[in-house]
Amino acid sequence: CGIVAYIGHREACPIIIKGLRRLEYRGYDSAGVALLNGQLSVYKKKGKVADLEAFIAEKDTHANIGMGHTRWATHGEPNDVNAHPHYSTSERIAIIHNGIIENYAALKQHLQQQGHVFHSDTDTEVFVNLIEEIQKQNSCSLEEAVRLALHEVVGAYAIVVLSKDNPGQLIAARKGSPLVIGVGENEFFLASDATPIIEYTNEVVYVNDYELAVIKDGQLEIRTKEDVKQTPYIQTLEL
Ligand code: GLU
Repeated sequence: CGIVAYIGHREACPIIIKGLRRLEYRGYDSAGVALLNGQLSVYKKKGKVADLEAFIAEKDTHANIGMGHTRWATHGEPNDVNAHPHYSTSERIAIIHNGIIENYAALKQHLQQQGHVFHSDTDTEVFVNLIEEIQKQNSCSLEEAVRLALHEVVGAYAIVVLSKDNPGQLIAARKGSPLVIGVGENEFFLASDATPIIEYTNEVVYVNDYELAVIKDGQLEIRTKEDVKQTPYIQTLEL
């Protein structure tokens, strides 16, 4: 139900946790984070953001790239396993997702036949395995695999994807669920709405439906799912 992500020079985890708290008003049943720092670590818990904080208090959360999610369950009961982020089968890719993938059952069956292993009851876990499978089949970049995956899924989504093999990269896309990018100085913030972002920057880009946002090498690139490059329209929010 809520998405926050960060890439830049600061510690990502405190920014993400604070952002998730700002999105608490949207309602949720579980919360989780993924942090990329050589390793791709996922920590998630049923319950409040405070429960997640207690859970990660003893962990090494040092990272400059990460993403967090508050879940409002649509597919699968609220529990630790169904909470986001979700790994792909190889655990090299992680995803957070707001929305519903309507054709997840057919995709899941197909992916299971290809050897993908599922741990949760969510539609979301299908999305990340689809990305992994497409990348494998096409030997393409992660961003290309995400773009191609958008052509296979039916439903609504705002997603953020991180991969162990793409350090320094954050990929996001949307259709029907909101997604805002805050543009700072050599840093970027992603969120479901601007409330987690405004304390850091008032320069924002609203991602449109069927668009893919790729942040790498400190640059933001937006293209359509047909691979047409867009010029990001940066708006200045009045505070
Ligand atoms: N459909 C997904 C799930 O049930 C995402 C729900 C949400 O938007 O939080 O896990």
